[in-house]
Amino acid sequence: MSDATATLEGKAAELGRLDHWIDGATTAPAEGNYLETVSPMTGQPALRVAAGTPGDVDAAVAAARRAAPGWRHFVSAERGRLMLALAEAIRADNQRLAELERADSGKPMAGALAEIEGSAQYFEFYGSLVYLPAGDVLDVAPDQHVFTRREPFGVVGVITPWNLPMNQAARAIAPALVAGNVIVAKPSEITSRTTIELARLATQVGFPDGVINVVLGTGPTVGEAIVSHPDVRKVAFTGSVAVGQAIGRIAAERIIPLTLELGGKSANIVFEDADLDIAAKEAVRGFTLNSGQVCSAGTRLLVQRSIYDRFLDAVKEVTETVVPGEDIGPIITPAQYQRVQGYFRVAEEDGARKLTGGEVASVEGCEGGFYVKPTVYADVDNSMRIAQEEIFGPVLVAIPFDTEEDAIRITNDSPYGLIGTVWSRDISRALRVADRIEAGQVFVNVWNTMSVQTPFGGHKHSGYGREKGIEAIHHYSHLKTVTVKI
Ligand code: NAD
Repeated sequence: MSDATATLEGKAAELGRLDHWIDGATTAPAEGNYLETVSPMTGQPALRVAAGTPGDVDAAVAAARRAAPGWRHFVSAERGRLMLALAEAIRADNQRLAELERADSGKPMAGALAEIEGSAQYFEFYGSLVYLPAGDVLDVAPDQHVFTRREPFGVVGVITPWNLPMNQAARAIAPALVAGNVIVAKPSEITSRTTIELARLATQVGFPDGVINVVLGTGPTVGEAIVSHPDVRKVAFTGSVAVGQAIGRIAAERIIPLTLELGGKSANIVFEDADLDIAAKEAVRGFTLNSGQVCSAGTRLLVQRSIYDRFLDAVKEVTETVVPGEDIGPIITPAQYQRVQGYFRVAEEDGARKLTGGEVASVEGCEGGFYVKPTVYADVDNSMRIAQEEIFGPVLVAIPFDTEEDAIRITNDSPYGLIGTVWSRDISRALRVADRIEAGQVFVNVWNTMSVQTPFGGHKHSGYGREKGIEAIHHYSHLKTVTVKI
């Protein structure tokens, strides 16, 4: 053992250890390797996380395949009862789960608790949908009985990012399960704890072993092994565009369906007749929530020129009330922290006018943490990099516009299309604009009030397929037509 390894081993011995969850049990990685995570609140080592390998994925897929026939033919009511029991178990444990989420991501407890509650709601909602009809009878001919039925794919791979870890895992796992699939999930290697807890709680409330498996480790090793595995028949991926493209190439070779939930650069369009007080507060919530590390963050603010200065004064004032370390957490990793600061430099080089922020923040007691001040740039041109690229930090770019047509053109001049928001008291105008925004969801006079019932997904580089709502079940099942001669 080298000195360097000996030191690492000595230090690692003090850290907690997180293993896979395979076939209803904690399972150490076959090759015995671990990654070390860093707390974004302190910059200090936080946890040893199993560094899975394709062998671990094989074991998880084999467990899932063993569980698949039983789960698929489980009486629907039983499946629903288990889903509801899991929702209640998540709720009953919400404080501990929120603390684990906070330990991984540094987010304030209020945000972590909201995320845990959202996770419970997915199991509650999909658990209540088990009685939905599984197909139709078609009146094709008098001597034929023709019916369709929804069938599960089998093993579904679920690969999730670090920003809302348990919530995004639950968002894909719950509809996949209720459609009769079994799961091999891989959370981000940075925020693995609550996905493991989700699987552990499922086992505790009575889910059969192998129905939910979680393999930990990096994307290129574990994630790719899941997408490439011949027995994985569908993949739900939430993450970056680049990785979505890489997964898409493998899925195209294998001809398996994908749900891709990718990035965003969503527009908040404020017309001169809007309720400006509410719009300003919501615009700030829209780019600071989870420190801007939200795919649907409203990071482009389009303001009609007649109210531009007045509105930006209000936005600046509200932004300066948002306190890093209290209201918002840190940026997730050192690399992402550097990346956000890189965009501060890009903004300056491109000639944007800084209204507030644009620098790191120091938080008492968290001196090594990765905090930045909520930041607003004015007089931004939509062609600038800070207006086109997803920063994934609390950074807002404000762009003036003159007419309704201008607002629509600027909004749609983006590689992304996840959400859009319109602020106007003229409902006819708001609906005209909503109709023309290229995005999967549009909000009018409110920002991003999503529920488990509202289908969610993107246009363009924001992805395809839909999560949430009854719609999602259709993305986790395929339709078979049976024709019987009578
Ligand atoms: P990421 O793409 O780097 O990682 C996401 C997941 O994919 C992680 O589990 C990672 O380990 C895995 N992965 C990485 N490389 C892989 C590969 N080659 N094969 C298979 N899996 C691989 O994303 P991130 O940095 O964790 O998250 C931030 C991104 O996620 C942002 O772009 C954000 O907009 C997006 N996001 C989208 C949504 C949505 O619902 N649309 C929600 C949250 C985050």
